[in-house]
Amino acid sequence: MRIEDIVRAVQGELGITVDGRAGPETWQVIYARVVAPAVPGLPGGVTDSRSEKAIATLLPEVQPYARALVHKAAAVGITIKVIDGTRTWAEQDALYAQGRTRPGGIVTNAKGGESNHNFGIAFDIGVFEGSRYLGDSPKYKAVGTLGIELGLEWGGDWKSLVDQPHFQLRPRWAQELTERQMLAGLRARREASEPLLA
Ligand SMILES: [Zn+2]
Repeated sequence: MRIEDIVRAVQGELGITVDGRAGPETWQVIYARVVAPAVPGLPGGVTDSRSEKAIATLLPEVQPYARALVHKAAAVGITIKVIDGTRTWAEQDALYAQGRTRPGGIVTNAKGGESNHNFGIAFDIGVFEGSRYLGDSPKYKAVGTLGIELGLEWGGDWKSLVDQPHFQLRPRWAQELTERQMLAGLRARREASEPLLA
């Protein structure tokens, strides 16, 4: 039996859209209806409080992806938390200054309005071992693969500044665009008060 057939069977059983792809909706429902009830004290669909705080800053359409990634990682024994979500343009400028006009190492090449974090479509995760945060771990790569399976883009694939904790949801209208073109589109949509993802 192929994975796709298994996923179809599960989707049929759960009464959700049957497309054979284990996307965010499927993961969220599997988690809420099957996994959470089986593990005492695990709230359905909701992740840990730190992650939820960051997830709340994301666009509503992006939030299930972030939750699904946390649950998917947990399913293979990797504890992650969403540790950063949306940043204001001022916060982004402050981050850009780090390693340039302020102390610390360079962490971004993006100024305010130049990061997908400024538009609610990007989030960063941290890998944890118990309560200990791991800034560097081969598990980031494993989580990257899980995110790509969900339909997210992973910063570990980037060429200029590899960013393994980073994930983002590319809007459908931006599928064929470069990162720079997509950001210009996001700024224009915000300027015109148009939906960013639709
Ligand atoms: Zn990021």
